Amino acid sequence: MDCIFCKKIEEKKECLFENELAFAFFDGFPVNKGHTLIIPKRHVKTFFDLTKEEVAAMKELADKVKEYLDKEYHPDGYNVGLNCGEAAGQTVMHCHMHIIPRYVGDIENPRGGVRNIIKGISLY
Ligand code: 5GP
Ligand code: ZN
Repeated sequence: MDCIFCKKIEEKKECLFENELAFAFFDGFPVNKGHTLIIPKRHVKTFFDLTKEEVAAMKELADKVKEYLDKEYHPDGYNVGLNCGEAAGQTVMHCHMHIIPRYVGDIENPRGGVRNIIKGISLY
């Protein structure tokens, strides 16, 4: 299958952490310092296709990634998110969790966090 994330797992390329079911690596086009992706080793499209075991494996890596990023970059907070489907902005069709460190002052007004994504269509 022609999937850039499956290829990374196969080649163990840029691996930051891995366990039996999941794999973590730095985003190639980071939106902030330390932006990391966590993926299941099995090729599925979205979060909703994951088994409970895969969710647990990704959470285990998320905790390791946080510990690592806290030590390396000292962020003040995190945005954690998954884009599920083209309409939601997903561009790589292998499920991935974004771990995005946030720093006080990195944008003028961070209020709302991931909710800002849908500002344009917000009902309120
Ligand atoms: P999406 O928009 O699908 O939620 O996120 C895809 C993510 O994959 C983006 O943040 C993008 O920067 C990242 N990405 C795309 N191609 C590569 C690559 O070849 N290597 C790495 N490390 N990240 C990639
Ligand atoms: Zn894949």
